[in-house]
Amino acid sequence: MGPEDKDYAVSFAIPGDWDGVKLLSRPAYFKKSKHFENKTLTMGDVETFIIFDDVFVPKERVFLNGFDDPRQTPYAGFLALMFAHYHRHSYTGCKPAISEILASAAALVAEYNGIERTSHARDKISHLIGTAELVFAAGESSALHSEKSPSGTQVPDEILTNAGRRLAGEEIYNEYKILADLSGGLIATLPYEGSFFSEEVGELAMKYLKRNPRVKPENIYKCFKGIECLAVSEIAGLLQVAGLHGGGSPQMETIAMMGRYPIEKLKNISKYLFGIKSNLRRYERSETPVTPREMLEKFRKVMEKKKKI
Ligand SMILES: Cc1cc2nc3c(=O)[nH]c(=O)nc-3n(C[C@H](O)[C@H](O)[C@H](O)COP(=O)(O)OP(=O)(O)OC[C@H]3O[C@@H](n4cnc5c(N)ncnc54)[C@H](O)[C@@H]3O)c2cc1C
Repeated sequence: MGPEDKDYAVSFAIPGDWDGVKLLSRPAYFKKSKHFENKTLTMGDVETFIIFDDVFVPKERVFLNGFDDPRQTPYAGFLALMFAHYHRHSYTGCKPAISEILASAAALVAEYNGIERTSHARDKISHLIGTAELVFAAGESSALHSEKSPSGTQVPDEILTNAGRRLAGEEIYNEYKILADLSGGLIATLPYEGSFFSEEVGELAMKYLKRNPRVKPENIYKCFKGIECLAVSEIAGLLQVAGLHGGGSPQMETIAMMGRYPIEKLKNISKYLFGIKSNLRRYERSETPVTPREMLEKFRKVMEKKKKI
C-alpha cells in the first residue's frame, strides 16, 4: 500500500458483536444419521462475510493507523503478508491431515469395491499419500529454516512454506477426483438412509448394495455414506474451495516465491557450468531463510526511489 491507500492501511481488534459490525453468516453441515450413530461426521462450519458499517474503534484497540500517521502505511502490506504467511504455514500442517482422511477413505473403498490390489488403485492411493507427505515435509522444513523475529516468534521460511502450500492448493481437486474415481458413482447416487430401513425396499436395498462378499452390507453403506459426506456434501464443496484459496490462491504463492527467490544467484550455477563464469560460491538456497521482512525492505526502497522522482 502506498500513500494513496492510507484509508485502508488500518488494523484493529474488536469483539464480533460490536456496534455496526455486520456478520453475514453462512453455515454448512453434514446430514444427520437417524439409525447409525456417528460422532465424527457431525461437524459444521460457519463462514462469515464481515462488514464494518461506520464502526467506532477506540484508540487502544488500534494496532496500525496509516490514516493518521503515513509512516505506518508501508507496514499494512507487511502485516497482511505476515498473516497470509503464518496461515500458509499452518496449512502445511492441517492440509495433509485432510489428504490423509481422503487417502484413508480411498484405501477403504478400494477394499470394499474389491479393487485394492489393482495397480491403478495402488498408484492413485500412493499419489494421495505422497501429496500429504510432501506438503507436510515442506512445512517442517520451513519451520527448521525459520528466522527469529525481534518479538521472539519464529517466522517460517517463505519459499518452502509457499512451495508446500501451492502444491496443496494445486492438488486438492485431483485428490477428490481420485477418491471419486475409486469410489464409483454410488457416492453421488446413494439412496437416503430411510430407504435402507423401509419395510418395502429396505432388504432389497441392502441386498443390492452388496459388493465385496467379505464385507457386511451395513459397513458398505457406512463407507459410502461417509464418502458422500467427505466428497459430495455442502461442506465438501467448501473444503475444496478452502483447499484451493485459503491463505491465498496458488497464484499468490507463485508471486511470493518469484518475488523472494534469489533468481540471479540461481542463474550463476548455469553460468559456471556452461563456462560463462569461472568462479562459483557454494549455492544453498535454504542457508539464509527468506521471510516477509525482505518484502518490506524491497517496498521501502521502491517508495524511496518514487520520492526522489
Ligand atoms: C472456506 C474459506 C475460508 C476462508 N477463511 C478465511 C479466514 O478465516 N480469514 C481470512 O482472512 N480469509 C479467509 N478466506 C479468504 C481467502 O484467504 C481468500 O479467498 C484467498 O486469499 C483468495 O482471495 P480472493 O478470494 O480474494 O480471490 P482472488 O485473489 O480475487 O482470486 C481470484 C483469481 O484472481 C487471481 N489473482 C488475484 N490477484 C492476482 C494478481 N495480483 N496477479 C494475478 N492473478 C491474480 C487469482 O490467482 C485467482 O485466479 C477464506 C476463504 C475460503 C474459501
